[in-house]
Amino acid sequence: MDAEQLRECGHKMVDFIADYYKDIENFPVLSQVQPGYLRELLPDSAPVHPESLQDVLDDVQSKILPGVTHWQSPEFFAYFPSNSSVAGFLGEMLSAAINMVGFSWITSPAATELEMIVLDWLAKSLKLPDEFLSSGQGGGVIQGTASEAVLVVLLAARDKALRRVGKDTIGKLVAYSSDQTHSALQKACKIGGIHAENCRVLKTDSSTDYALSPESLSEAISRDIASGLIPFFMCATVGTTSSTTVDPLPALGKISSVSFLAESSNGLWFHIDAAYAGSACICPEFRHYIDGVEEANSFNMNAHKWFLTNFDCSALWVKDRSALIQSLSTNPEFLKNKASQGNSVVDYKDWQIPLGRRFRSLKLWMVLRLYGLENLQAYIRNHIELARKFEELVKLDSRFEVAAPRRFSLVCFRLLPNPNNEEFGNELNHELLEAVNSTGKLFISHTVLSNKYVLRFAVGAPLTEERHVVAAWKTLQETASDLLRNS
Ligand code: PLP
Repeated sequence: MDAEQLRECGHKMVDFIADYYKDIENFPVLSQVQPGYLRELLPDSAPVHPESLQDVLDDVQSKILPGVTHWQSPEFFAYFPSNSSVAGFLGEMLSAAINMVGFSWITSPAATELEMIVLDWLAKSLKLPDEFLSSGQGGGVIQGTASEAVLVVLLAARDKALRRVGKDTIGKLVAYSSDQTHSALQKACKIGGIHAENCRVLKTDSSTDYALSPESLSEAISRDIASGLIPFFMCATVGTTSSTTVDPLPALGKISSVSFLAESSNGLWFHIDAAYAGSACICPEFRHYIDGVEEANSFNMNAHKWFLTNFDCSALWVKDRSALIQSLSTNPEFLKNKASQGNSVVDYKDWQIPLGRRFRSLKLWMVLRLYGLENLQAYIRNHIELARKFEELVKLDSRFEVAAPRRFSLVCFRLLPNPNNEEFGNELNHELLEAVNSTGKLFISHTVLSNKYVLRFAVGAPLTEERHVVAAWKTLQETASDLLRNS
C-alpha cells in the first residue's frame, strides 16, 4: 500500500463516483441488458500485466454501468429502498481503510465498543425497552441482513427450547408466522433443522389488512399442543414486504408470553421483523407501530434500507444475549485471549454465523452524527409525504385503485380490469409493470394480494423529489392508456 498512490487514485475514484451520482438520472433505472451480456465484453482470463486505473474506469463506464440497476436513482421505486448517503459512504471508506476483522474484542476494541454504543443510541432513538440495551442482559449487534438476524435468533430459541425438553425433540418444535412474513424465516427454519411441516404459515386476508390474527395464532398453538408438538418461536412483522402491514404486537406478545413448555415458565421466543418500517419509528408519530415490543425477545431493523446507511447494516437487539452466545459461541485455542477468558468483554463472533466481521458501526455512527435525529426524522417524513401524494394521484384516476392501506412510504395499487374478467386484470397489471420498467424511466415491482397482481410503488431513494414521483405517475398513466387502447 503506497499512501501517495492511494491519495491520487482515491481522488480519481471519488471524482468518478461524484460524477456517477450527478448523472444518475440519465441511466435507465432498470438495467436493460440481456443475460450473459458481460461475457461478450470482457476477456476470458485475468491480465498478466497491470492495467491503468483509467482503463478500468473506462470499462466501468462503458461495460459495467449498463448492467447496473440503479438503486440510488431518484426514479427507483421497486422492492424497498437501499439507501446510500455521504455519511454512509464516508463510513464505508473508513471501514475499508482500517480493514480490520473484528471477531473478538481484542482484534479491535474500538470496533466492538463502538458497535455496542451506537446500537444503544439507536435503541434509545426507537425507545426500545431498556432490556435491549447493552448495560443489562441484552444488547445490540450488527448483522449483514435481516435474514441473518432471524436465523441467529431462531437458533438461539431452538437451543433454549431443546435445553428444556431434550435434544431428541427437535422434530416437535413449531415456529409460527403469517403468509405475509418474509421468506427469510422459512430459510432460517430450513437451516435450523425445524421440520417443514412444523412451520406454521398462518393465513391472512384483506379483512385484517393482511395482519396476523391473534385468534388464528392461539388456535394453531392449541391444536399443536393437543397433538403433542412444542411451540417455540413466533415472528411478527412491522411493515410486511408485500403491503407494509403491521402485525398486532401487543396481542401477539401476550400469547407468546404464556408458558407452553411444561418444564419452563417461558413461552415462545417472540421476534419482531421491522426490517423496512423500523426506521420510521424514530419519529414520535410513528413509534406506536412498535408498541408491544416490550413483550419481544428480539427486534430487528435494517439501517441499510431506509436509514441512509450504506448496505449492509442490519441492527438486531436481544434481551438475553446469553441465549445467542450459548448457541453460537466457539472457543478454539487459536482465538483464546485474556480479555475473552476474563468474560469482561463482548466477542461479537458469538452473536453471528461467520467468524470475521467488518467495522460496520462506523457508517451508522457517521450517519447518526452527521445528520442527527432531527434530519433523519425529516428525511423519513418527506418520503411518507411523497408516498401520500402518489396515493392521491392514484385515487384521482378512476382507472386505478389503491389495493391496500398505505402506512409508510409504499403504495400498493393496480389498474382496474374489466369487472367480468379478473384474470385479465392480473395479466394487464403484469403487462403494465413490464412496459413501464422497459422505458427505463422508473422501476417498480409487484406482489400478489388476495390472488390479485398488485403494483408496488416504494418511495425511499435519497435523491427522490416530488417531481420524480409526478413524472413516474405520468409515465404510468400514459403507458396504461396505450395498453388499454390496444387491449
Ligand atoms: N424482512 C422484511 C420485512 C423485508 O422486507 C426484507 C427484505 O426486503 C427482509 C426481511 C429480508 O431482508 P434482508 O435482505 O436484509 O435479509
